[in-house]
Amino acid sequence: MKPEIFSAEKFRFKVDALSKNALSIISRLQSKKFKAYIVGGGIRDLIEGLDPKDFDIVTDCEPREIRKLFRNSRIIGRRFKLVHITFPNEIIEVTTFRSGQDPQSDSIEINDKGRIIRDNKWGTQEEDVVRRDLTINSIYYDPLSDKIVDYTGGVKDLESKRIRFVGDVEKRIIEDPVRILRVIRFAAKLNFEIEPTIKKAITKYKNQLLDMSSARIYEEIIKMFLAGHALKTYQLLQEHDLFDLLFPHLENSKENFNEFYENAFKDTDQRLKENKKLNVGFLFAILLWPKVYIKSGISNRINYKSFYLTMSAVMQKQQNITAVPRRYSSFIRDVWMNQIRFNKVGKKSINFANNIRFRASYDFLLLRNSMERNLDTPINWWTEFKAANYDKKMKLLNAYKKGVNGKR
Ligand code: ATP
Ligand code: MG
Repeated sequence: MKPEIFSAEKFRFKVDALSKNALSIISRLQSKKFKAYIVGGGIRDLIEGLDPKDFDIVTDCEPREIRKLFRNSRIIGRRFKLVHITFPNEIIEVTTFRSGQDPQSDSIEINDKGRIIRDNKWGTQEEDVVRRDLTINSIYYDPLSDKIVDYTGGVKDLESKRIRFVGDVEKRIIEDPVRILRVIRFAAKLNFEIEPTIKKAITKYKNQLLDMSSARIYEEIIKMFLAGHALKTYQLLQEHDLFDLLFPHLENSKENFNEFYENAFKDTDQRLKENKKLNVGFLFAILLWPKVYIKSGISNRINYKSFYLTMSAVMQKQQNITAVPRRYSSFIRDVWMNQIRFNKVGKKSINFANNIRFRASYDFLLLRNSMERNLDTPINWWTEFKAANYDKKMKLLNAYKKGVNGKR
């Protein structure tokens, strides 16, 4: 296999976007006569003119050897061993070239469905490239010689904005169905076209996603929705019938939550643009709300106990697909529970407005407003109340009471 070699100059990427730590690791490995490259998202995003989130390094040096070369390092993973090198401001992942072959050996395990269970057999760069998922993720960059090494036509695919697998599409998806979500993620992030053969294979194999580890699916969901492309991701997931597979809560419901989701995800992307924090709990509160809403609705006559049970059941069921860490559960529950508190205006409203989840709950209320047309809640009143100081709050409360009594 002969790679195409490009001089990186051609792409004029911002050199200062490169991590100094990554450079120093590569230079140390090369000084010991090992090969070492930046691979994956780091170089892909540089060529695209984006700021890479991180830099993954790949080398022919084996984990135990890397561990010896870098004091600040440790080996992680069992099924896919790699080394983390820790710096004050970042952790850099260093992986060793893998051969992806020789199922006879103990270092590799492929189950009877063709799925890769373990992949720890070291190999050459030529072998390593064919086990990477997409051509655009298989570009190697040596920052010291400033050379780009491309075995799969990844550079060309970046230029023509195409998502393509390295090798046979079906085989690669069967090996690891999570790659379906990676395809969607990169198509959304880069605004690339997904090839028709991939679209077909997604339809054929999408159900296999449900056999995958819920921790991995969770990680992918977070990367998909909290990286500035939530809206596009949502649309692509819908287009490929993946959204209801991952969040199967609209069973038997004729209601359409599209507008709710689109507004929510537009908002999510906008927040990130404004450098505001994005909260995992808030994301899942959005993703799962329609189910809670269908099951219990929110009205003044709500039964607290059954509402609580509904929330728990919805969250529990979702755990089988996406393992949301426990620490977010109370946030999700509070934001939902607080929706009921918005229906009642009274003395307790002052306390409520000081609640640590009030702000998030109020933002959530605004999102609901786009879906549940006739909310029982006086939204405008809450907007004014939220911004008011104590005296003004008291006045608003009194005026509200009079208004309600007046109507009687
Ligand atoms: P990001 O910008 O999210 O970091 P990335 O492409 O760097 O995107 P990583 O998950 O960091 O993604 O993985 C680094 C590289 O490892 C990928 O670019 C790809 O070459 C390879 N890789 C990761 N996951 C898989 C997978 N499931 N199957 C095959 N190759 C993979
Ligand atoms: Mg990466």
